[in-house]
Amino acid sequence: MAEKTTDFPSKVNHFFEGLIEILGEQNANLFLTSRQERQSDPQTRGILIKAGRAGFYYWLRQSLDAVGWNDPLFRLRPVKMKIASGLKDICQNLERESELSISLEDSPKIWQLNLSNSPKSLPCSYIWGFVQEYTRWAGNGRFYEVREKSCQLNGNDQCELVIKKEPQD
Ligand SMILES: [Zn+2]
Repeated sequence: MAEKTTDFPSKVNHFFEGLIEILGEQNANLFLTSRQERQSDPQTRGILIKAGRAGFYYWLRQSLDAVGWNDPLFRLRPVKMKIASGLKDICQNLERESELSISLEDSPKIWQLNLSNSPKSLPCSYIWGFVQEYTRWAGNGRFYEVREKSCQLNGNDQCELVIKKEPQD
């Protein structure tokens, strides 16, 4: 595991490891020390979404047993129930490990994650990539569209990530 030279994020290894996978260790440190993760330009968002996709697998390796996803009760659920219950687990876990308030709304056609960020919480675009990869993993390789409906970085009250329940492929 790579050495951390910044205090952010203090406990969230999968975020740091995901960034390293995309940028390399030196640039990942530069990215964090310059607080670039708080920027909302498309390039930064693209990096964070990719880091989220990579970070999900680091998180999964650490958390698979703890969240009970090896249990047949989880694995053999109908896919939409499975995705929804895993999203709840993700919300609880990410909330616990970073300064992030995150809630899940379950509507007939979409799941929506509402994020209230603090300056030290995981960036919304990282979580975007993270849940994108999660839905692909839990949804047996299908692609579920994720988009951000509103964003705190654009002056809104909270970030809202919307996941379509029907896979796109
Ligand atoms: Zn946002």
